[in-house]
Amino acid sequence: MRALYPGSFDPLTNGHMDLIERASALFGEVIVAVLSNPSKKPLFTVEERIAQIRVSTAHLERIEVISFDGLTVHCAEAHCADLILRGLRAMSDFEYELQIAHTNRSLAEDLETVFLATSARHSFLSSSVVKEVARFGGPVEHMVPCEVASDLNRHFNSAFTPPVT
Ligand code: ADP
Repeated sequence: MRALYPGSFDPLTNGHMDLIERASALFGEVIVAVLSNPSKKPLFTVEERIAQIRVSTAHLERIEVISFDGLTVHCAEAHCADLILRGLRAMSDFEYELQIAHTNRSLAEDLETVFLATSARHSFLSSSVVKEVARFGGPVEHMVPCEVASDLNRHFNSAFTPPVT
């Protein structure tokens, strides 16, 4: 089966990695689809995010990394995906994810959305939290793959000035 895993991945976290690894074992083939939406003002360009995901998933087989804009269902159809994969961290994700899943089902009724519950140790992780920690010079090595940690450090090191106490 071929799973389409859409998201912003700005940047990829260990929570995303956990989902990709488990989906790869479950479904065989995973297409990671990076949303190209400039109105979200991403920290990393689509090309940078794709490069981060490619390097971080190089140990896995049958992972494809692509960019997309527009509707997820169109992307899924264009890439002959059997299902859309999304992650659930907490109840707070649920309401939004359910709405999106129903919307997608109304647009493409044969396309299922499959949710994987995040591993407990990654349930606090989000791309925004990681960016916030990195922005203020905190360590992110335990939250993201090492290539992403380097990119974050490079990005914020020049900008970071310790607060005056
Ligand atoms: P989006 O802007 O589409 O929500 P994200 O990159 O934030 O894009 O998330 C993509 C998917 O990965 C979503 O289904 C989200 O719930 C899931 N996800 C995000 N963080 C984690 C995590 N720590 N563990 C598992 N899944 C996660």
